[in-house]
Amino acid sequence: MSGGPYSVSPVGILHSCFKEKFAIPRQPQLAPAASGVLELLPPFNQGEAVQGLEQVSHVWLLFLFHQTLEEKPRLKVRPPRLGGNQSIGVFASRATHRPNGIGQSVVKLDKVEPGRLWVSGIDLLDGTPILDIKPYVSYADSIPGAYNAIASLAPELIPVTWAAGVLQQAQEQAQRLGEPLVELIEQCLAQDPRPAYQVPQPDRRYGTRFWDVDVRWHYPVAGEIVVLEVLPG
Ligand code: SAM
Repeated sequence: MSGGPYSVSPVGILHSCFKEKFAIPRQPQLAPAASGVLELLPPFNQGEAVQGLEQVSHVWLLFLFHQTLEEKPRLKVRPPRLGGNQSIGVFASRATHRPNGIGQSVVKLDKVEPGRLWVSGIDLLDGTPILDIKPYVSYADSIPGAYNAIASLAPELIPVTWAAGVLQQAQEQAQRLGEPLVELIEQCLAQDPRPAYQVPQPDRRYGTRFWDVDVRWHYPVAGEIVVLEVLPG
């Protein structure tokens, strides 16, 4: 028996709506409007590789956290969910800093074509290398009575409102892109992307990029977001 090392190669690259890490939901399914196209690489870009997948509603994506790969393995991590100041064992967490940098997300499969899969409900950055794709199997992957006391509920949502004229900016960009941009912004910002340990600062402005659009917002009142700008970058 050998302890490796082994090497793996991506089967595809995800072209995602998320161009920056900031404001990507912490798990899949939290923003159903978040979508992307998985471009399969040779030899998996041929029709045979996806034959039968049109009978499947969701798939597991195994991928590389390519933007946070580290040389030195960590034994403990500080998940943002615990406020960033409490550490737990790396295997008790789904944090991005982990041995081999491997992530897993279950996502909705919207459309299948030879060489391309349309997916939504994603939590992955643009350019993420995909290592494998597997169909979701409800009888095995959904476990009645399963629990995780560290992350028992989805993050609490906060209200998101729009400064004057900004909803219209978002609607115009949504129309240009042909994507549900208004829903994407509302679903992602409602998760409150700030790290939990950050002290609220009403004057501070935050921003990220969805598709080719720069989105800016602030927190005029604690626990409430106002979107300030939605402009093509
Ligand atoms: N669902 C996956 C899992 O459990 O393995 C990912 C969970 S991880 C907490 C989700 C975060 O990973 C996102 O909020 C985003 O900031 C980050 N992320 C997504 N794609 C990434 C990538 N390619 N490289 C580094 N970080 C990434």
